[in-house]
Amino acid sequence: MSRLIVISNRVSAPKAQSAAGAQGGLSVALSAALKEYRGIWFGWSGEKTEEFTGHMDLHREGGVTTATIDLEEQDIDEYYNGYANRTLWPLFHYRIDLAEYDRSFGSGYERVNERFAETVAPLIEPDDLVWVHDYHLIPLGQQLRDRGLKNRIGFFLHIPWPPSRLLVSLPYHERLVRTLLAYDVIGFQTEEWLESFCHYVERELGGRVDKDGMIHVGDRSVYAAAYPIGVDYKEFGEAVESATAREAFERLRKSAAGRRTIIGVDRLDYSKGLEERFLGYRRFLEKHGESRDHLFLLQIAPPSRGEVATYEVIREHLDELSGRINGEFASVDWVPIRYVNQSYGRAELAGFYRAAEIALITPLRDGMNLVAKEYVAAQDPDDPGVLILSRFAGAALQLKDALLVNPYSKDEISDAIMKAIRMPKAERIRRWTSMIESVRTEDVVAWRHAFVSALENARPPVRSEPEHA
Ligand code: UDP
Repeated sequence: MSRLIVISNRVSAPKAQSAAGAQGGLSVALSAALKEYRGIWFGWSGEKTEEFTGHMDLHREGGVTTATIDLEEQDIDEYYNGYANRTLWPLFHYRIDLAEYDRSFGSGYERVNERFAETVAPLIEPDDLVWVHDYHLIPLGQQLRDRGLKNRIGFFLHIPWPPSRLLVSLPYHERLVRTLLAYDVIGFQTEEWLESFCHYVERELGGRVDKDGMIHVGDRSVYAAAYPIGVDYKEFGEAVESATAREAFERLRKSAAGRRTIIGVDRLDYSKGLEERFLGYRRFLEKHGESRDHLFLLQIAPPSRGEVATYEVIREHLDELSGRINGEFASVDWVPIRYVNQSYGRAELAGFYRAAEIALITPLRDGMNLVAKEYVAAQDPDDPGVLILSRFAGAALQLKDALLVNPYSKDEISDAIMKAIRMPKAERIRRWTSMIESVRTEDVVAWRHAFVSALENARPPVRSEPEHA
């Protein structure tokens, strides 16, 4: 069996985890993948260094080797806070109004991708499969090819791929997208993002897309497909059963004092639609005075990317908005929104999900959204809660039996909350039974098997010639 070399911006090594804050969906999924494959996980430690030297910190734990590098302050500013999080992230989440184009971001992005390539290339053996992750590292495959690597190299995008009409607003978009042709396999979360990519290839690059998923541009052929990421169903099931989860369940139920809990769990990010969610919930409070104090919204929102100004702005807006709604509707023994800027471990979250009768997950745009799947996985099969989910989350394509809403519509959010409150148990069970089937079968294990086997089958490995025949 070939080794697997996973390359992502951050590595979930002990040193990196503390700096990363709340653990995102990507690192959760990759820790699970690397438990199974004998391999190396390479990426940035999350730490800063005075001068980049290419020095790697190697750790071996549970059969997985992690190799991390530290980056210079300028790298972090231009590549991570700059091009990745101020240019590509907003643009790929359809927010061209927030995307910033600065030449130094672009050159920092290329420089760091070169640094990644230069450092990781010597670790890669001829038979290794290489799997590159996410928007931080789009040009890395090309950088590795430029250094003579003939390995099978795959790329998976964890966020949406934007419609061509938005993507062309990115300076040098064609140069960036062409670097993707260096990979053997390109994976997207959903058919929708795949379609947008194929549209771009045909329209902007003059390429051809075959029915079998092969894409041809000039003399390059690449396989592209959708591989929706999932939760680690087995591991999450264990988390739900843990003592920590039970305590969290009890704590929330006790403090709810007979009221129903509506839960939201999201990194504090403008793509998650938190302002719109609060406003939709406010509409519900206005319209349904009689049901008002029978429930409350628990919004867990750990801050992220504090170095980027737009994140400070959204944080201020949310502080202000939640305060205003609470001031407007609260009574001496009830507040409508418990707004919590703290991050929780997954076992604790599992207990909170199970204790919440309703989940309100309404991103304006999301590559997948693992929280929606975790909520489903945490429910009591005999008395499951109701999932209200944005139709613009990748997860909506699989969780069709959620109450799907337009996250921009206050009325749809308000009506969905009412529908969830009134939903008979038989309907809750019917909807949950269909959703849990997808969460169970299309989980993270199925995801990584599907991607890695596509990469294995992309073409026969190119072996280096022995020196003396
Ligand atoms: N998460 C966590 N603690 C928190 C908030 C979130 O561990 O306080 C986890 C959550 O359980 C989920 C992930 O972070 O696994 C978020 O993944 P998702 O796909 O929903 O969103 P992302 O943050 O990757 O955009």
